[in-house]
Amino acid sequence: MLVREGNDFFVRGVRLLDLCEQFDTPLYIYDGHSIVDQYNRLAQAFPGVKLKLKYACKALNNVNILRLLRGAGSGLDTVSIQEVHLGLRAGFTPDQIIFTPNGVSIDEILSAVDLGVQINIDNISILEQFGHRLGSRVPVCLRLNPHIVAGGNKNIQTGHIDSKFGISIHQLRHVQRVLQSTGVVVNGLHMHTGSDILDAGVFLRAAELLFDAAAQFPDLTFMDFGSGFKVAYKEGDVVTNIEQLGAEVSAAFQEFCESYGRELELWFEPGKFIVSEAGYFLVRANVIKHTTATVFIGVDSGQNHLLRPMFYDAYHEILNISYPQGIERIYTVVGNICETDTFGWDRRINEVNEGDILLFKNAGAYGFTMSSNYNARFRPAEVLIWEGQAHLIRKRETLEDLVRNEVELDFLRP
Ligand SMILES: *Cc1c(COP(=O)(O)O)cnc(C)c1O
Repeated sequence: MLVREGNDFFVRGVRLLDLCEQFDTPLYIYDGHSIVDQYNRLAQAFPGVKLKLKYACKALNNVNILRLLRGAGSGLDTVSIQEVHLGLRAGFTPDQIIFTPNGVSIDEILSAVDLGVQINIDNISILEQFGHRLGSRVPVCLRLNPHIVAGGNKNIQTGHIDSKFGISIHQLRHVQRVLQSTGVVVNGLHMHTGSDILDAGVFLRAAELLFDAAAQFPDLTFMDFGSGFKVAYKEGDVVTNIEQLGAEVSAAFQEFCESYGRELELWFEPGKFIVSEAGYFLVRANVIKHTTATVFIGVDSGQNHLLRPMFYDAYHEILNISYPQGIERIYTVVGNICETDTFGWDRRINEVNEGDILLFKNAGAYGFTMSSNYNARFRPAEVLIWEGQAHLIRKRETLEDLVRNEVELDFLRP
């Protein structure tokens, strides 16, 4: 939680400018208590159902963050075999992990079977191959596409008709044929309709379609409704009302369980909701450049460190924490990468001088995990704030890290 005292900014008592001194910029920092609080808020929002939360680790996968969430009671949602390994390394047991890949080979899925995690299959071809190899030995979850569109940027809608995700709800007859001829047992149904759920109504419409489909699957032990819980990126944003959504979904789920004849577990896979607001990204203003069009602030980072503004057109609030008492001026904040990497146009920011520290909000989710080494820049360090102390949880990279896997050919050496 960001707190301003006078002209200074703190997270859980830790002064942010001190962190920049100690660890340098660009720097990702995470408020561990905010992460646990968000987890608990979600965990308590679904009364009267057997709820399991599987944190979607692609949002932020530092081992310490995974352990913090494991300690809070979370399971893990993974989308690659490497994420499965990160989860096991962090101490999750295989039964706490669901593997929900898209477009991966049967070999990768079989590797995940060997590791003992819950498999979620998202196409009929893989379901067939899985059935031929394993028959009824390992139950699977099926990712269904109910074709409900949840709004938001079109890059992050996954329920629509052209989506590459899931098995269409209209293909269930085909699915049943494959199950009958291979003996595969289905223990869960899954959907993840997109990254932004605006209201309980959209969610419930998709859920109803899954409830209807469930009648064809007698061996279910859980239903997984993915994620899409929305958080505020700027003032006035519509956010998911978790408590209201929880109450409505819980009531609908209880009713479904009664008609199904058994109490199933209700699973969710939140990523952004848990870690977005807990993260801050700190950068330094390198140059102030007046052009004919605008005043640019060039900072010591770029789209290589925070891709969301360029990739999703995402809005991240930007504050000048060095000089918050300065008058507001209009700036365009850009990176130092040789691309047009714009973090924000026409932002009102307290007057910025070269050397000032700027803070980006909502940097916990899809910040560090989407970062790269483009332009041969080092990826930033990460710091976890916990119980009033700042802990370095990832070192800034070095030149050694950049060239580690290069193979130098002898005949080309100078
Ligand atoms: C990305 C993803 C999530 C998490 O989405 P958020 O919007 O970050 O909550 C959950 N489930 C699956 C399958 C995903 O791919």
